[in-house]
Amino acid sequence: MTVVSVLPEVQAFLDRHHGLYIDGTWTPSNGRERLSVFNPATGSVIGSVADATVEDIDRAVASARGSFLKRTWRDMSPAARERVLLRLADLVERDAEFLAQLETLEQGQSITLSRILESGGAQSWIRYVAGLSTKITGQTFDVSIPLPLEARYTAYTRKEPIGVVAGIIPWNFPLLIGVWKVLPALAAGCSVIAKPSETTPLTMLRFAELATEAGVPDGVFNVVTGLGSLAGERLVRHHNVTKVSFTGSTPTGKRIAEHCASRLARVSLELGGKNPAIVLADADPSRVISGLTMAGFMNQGQICAACSRVYVEAPLFDTVAAGLQNALSDMSIGPGMDDAAFINPVVSAAHQMKVQGFLDSASEAGAEMVWGPQAPDPHGFYVRPALVINPDDAVPLTRDEVFGPVMTLTRVASAEEALARANDTPFGLASSLWTRSVDAAMRLPPRMDAGTVWVNSHVMIDPNMPFGGMKESGIGRDFGTGWLDAFTETKSICIQH
Ligand code: NDP
Repeated sequence: MTVVSVLPEVQAFLDRHHGLYIDGTWTPSNGRERLSVFNPATGSVIGSVADATVEDIDRAVASARGSFLKRTWRDMSPAARERVLLRLADLVERDAEFLAQLETLEQGQSITLSRILESGGAQSWIRYVAGLSTKITGQTFDVSIPLPLEARYTAYTRKEPIGVVAGIIPWNFPLLIGVWKVLPALAAGCSVIAKPSETTPLTMLRFAELATEAGVPDGVFNVVTGLGSLAGERLVRHHNVTKVSFTGSTPTGKRIAEHCASRLARVSLELGGKNPAIVLADADPSRVISGLTMAGFMNQGQICAACSRVYVEAPLFDTVAAGLQNALSDMSIGPGMDDAAFINPVVSAAHQMKVQGFLDSASEAGAEMVWGPQAPDPHGFYVRPALVINPDDAVPLTRDEVFGPVMTLTRVASAEEALARANDTPFGLASSLWTRSVDAAMRLPPRMDAGTVWVNSHVMIDPNMPFGGMKESGIGRDFGTGWLDAFTETKSICIQH
């Protein structure tokens, strides 16, 4: 066990009386309420943030709108905008350990994961998106049916920034997903208001300071902290918010979609999943076991693309079940700041209760449960990891998104049965296929209802590979060379000559 010591500057940041980040500076909320931030490993309060009021949100939107109308950022040359964003990536690199520690302290995740995926991933994604700033292009074309017939027209299209974007961020990877919600909008020339989850607001606040230090003009990037039901709701309903970029649960996503539809605001939704893995009899068992252990239990299963349902063809079932059972019994559990602990607490007491409720109801229904290590600290928000063997399809845990360290393992007679059961869900975010057969690897993925299908791996994401959900897992795609399209309007300009 190696427990990482908290950097003095991280402690100083936790001790600050955080306000809201509006117009390039700290500003107090006009309300008096504060929201406590907890360390999930101990259950103790480590800081507090402002609980934004409706007036605060209106101020943040006015700041973003003001900066958009001023045009400083959107009219900056693409190369200059790219340079500012690359500088932002360099600052995240400079402060990588600070950000990783802050993330682990508020979110609970392993410090190793925070270093690789949060501060490390944030740098990679910022640099990728920064590069897209200089690749925004339109088309030029002749008009084919001119009026009058002898007239000549040439038309071209411009991709213009969409306006003020609200980025609504979940708690499972607050910095990395914050970057996904904010950076493409900035790269396209939009102005942004970010709202992190009330559970994990701290890294976005620090990120806002870094954006100003990098040279993002005042008002272009604002961060408000507060309740989803009040601050979040006000933001997504605000008439001056042109686009909402949301990552979070399906029920909240549906609610936001309804608000946006009522005023025809643009919206992208990255939502929940109930992601299956199909393991064929010819798969490499050691690869399956190590791959699915990571895919199901990394960050305590609090990953939208985490594998939560495994369907194994009968001849390989006992081998996979025994291997996963061994992996579970070998897992170490402890605080995220212990870099040897693979399983850490979940994000909050409320989430701990929710996940535990799924496990209890499966146990009560008679499901066969295989348990991992016990929680080390009764005050921390730990959930004992579990494998559920051949559960009944009617048990809620097999159908709903649990978002915890829980995986179901089901024996199937054939690939066709696995496919039918894997697709039998309202979700369609991600899935995986495990096989050594080239034929199966070519033929099955097109029949799997998911925005991403991995073959012989699971949860591999990359800035250049579009990611998003089918069915109730969302609308739109993040990442890839077309990412900025969702943050621009196409304008046609037609010139008669
Ligand atoms: P929630 O839907 O509860 O919250 C997401 C964000 O929305 C939070 O900032 C929340 O604020 C805010 N919010 C809540 N209610 C409203 C509202 N009425 N109007 C506007 N904003 C609101 O999700 P979680 O934070 O619990 O995140 C976990 C979920 O995110 C899982 O379902 C997971 O699958 C999904 N997810 C999807 C990903 C994808 O790419 N598809 C990636 C990562 C996660 P507050 O917390 O303050 O209430």
